[in-house]
Amino acid sequence: MSDKIGQIIKKMEDCNVKFVRLQFVDIHGTPKNMAVPLLRPDQIEDIIEEGLLFDGSSVSGFVDINDSDLILKPDPDTFSTLPWRPDERGTCRFICDVYWPDGKKPFEGDPRYVLRNALEKVRKQGYEYNVGPEPEFFIIDQDEEGNIIPHDNGAYFDVEPVDQGTDFRRKLVMDLEALEFDIEVSHHEVAPGQHEIDFKFDKALKTADAVITFKQAIKAIVDNMGYYVTFMPKPFFGENGSGMHINQSLFKNGENIFYDPDTETQLSQEALHFTGGLLKHSKALAAVCAPTVNSYKRLVPGYEAPVYVAYGLKNRSTLIRIPASRGKRTRVELRMPDPSCNPYLAFAAVLEAGMDGLKNKIDPGEPTEIDVFGKSMDELSQMGIDVLPSSLWEAYHALEADEVVKSSLGNHVFENFMKLKHKEWDDYRVQVFQYELDRYLSI
Ligand code: GLU
Ligand code: MG
Ligand code: MG
Repeated sequence: MSDKIGQIIKKMEDCNVKFVRLQFVDIHGTPKNMAVPLLRPDQIEDIIEEGLLFDGSSVSGFVDINDSDLILKPDPDTFSTLPWRPDERGTCRFICDVYWPDGKKPFEGDPRYVLRNALEKVRKQGYEYNVGPEPEFFIIDQDEEGNIIPHDNGAYFDVEPVDQGTDFRRKLVMDLEALEFDIEVSHHEVAPGQHEIDFKFDKALKTADAVITFKQAIKAIVDNMGYYVTFMPKPFFGENGSGMHINQSLFKNGENIFYDPDTETQLSQEALHFTGGLLKHSKALAAVCAPTVNSYKRLVPGYEAPVYVAYGLKNRSTLIRIPASRGKRTRVELRMPDPSCNPYLAFAAVLEAGMDGLKNKIDPGEPTEIDVFGKSMDELSQMGIDVLPSSLWEAYHALEADEVVKSSLGNHVFENFMKLKHKEWDDYRVQVFQYELDRYLSI
């Protein structure tokens, strides 16, 4: 038995664990799990070595019914007890990798595999990709008629009693710390009922796992407190939506290669080329990073969400911002992703787009330091500034036409993703909304 498994068993004994959840995500990034009730903690050794067979045909984007067996293999590095489950006879979980039934060949439809694959490619070139996300979310209440409303009327950085979220965030931060999150800051966001909790950047696979855990934990904890949390990108018309900006850096030999103390901006050529790659592929990236019909209701002018394909150094109106921090914290912030994305697929796609920038030395041009929302489309187009897709339909057509982003997903995921997104768009476009009745009924 390895030391690692020995430590896990010891921890399970100390916590009197009864249930082990084996967790993974489907193509949308929705967490899925099976719970194994343990008779003895040392059973976990077999589970880690052998894995557990499951039916992959009922999981979105996985396999067909005639070839349905897959295996879940727990990643021992992801062991964690779940603080929102009972302390007595508690529950722990592992995030798993998915394999074909021989237990050796990774299943290429597993989003975690897609990211592992992208990371392995850059690791061979000596790079490590780090990501720090900024997930935003709403806490939801219901009015007397049962309508969905924000749970408070707070605004950006408000304090209690206007901010009614302090006790939620206090509990969330402490429970997330118990899950070994390194929380940097939490605050009320701009919209009523909206909050943000940021955690420290880490290696991309760890961050993608953490995003899934973060969403799951927050929903479960707030649910236990009698409210509902949504990570939907734009739940309320006329208010800011929820983004999940991603801050990225590339390290080589322990050093952040986006930092170069000898240039005027202290940004390296690599930082600029990576940015060039993100800009070039941004329309296709939208399909993966802002993957729902609702995502495009967030990406409209006037709500601090990006619309125009440009980068700036301090500019929050552009798609990409390069914040002022330098040294190890030098980073490129992509502002289009929202928390409805599958973080494994989003990070893989964004990484490959950035690496294409490095490989082909893509020049991002001069930074844009004006408020792009203050300009007309004509003025922007004269400045050479393009527009992000305005619908899921446009985004998935951009994805179909972009070989770099397409190949970052691999064939299996790309084909299944397209099938599901076509259907999602078709389901949406045949609906008739109250807005249309109000506007057109009298025509
Ligand atoms: N909520 C904004 C968005 O949709 C971001 C606000 C901020 O800069 O934190 O991206
Ligand atoms: Mg924010
Ligand atoms: Mg940000």
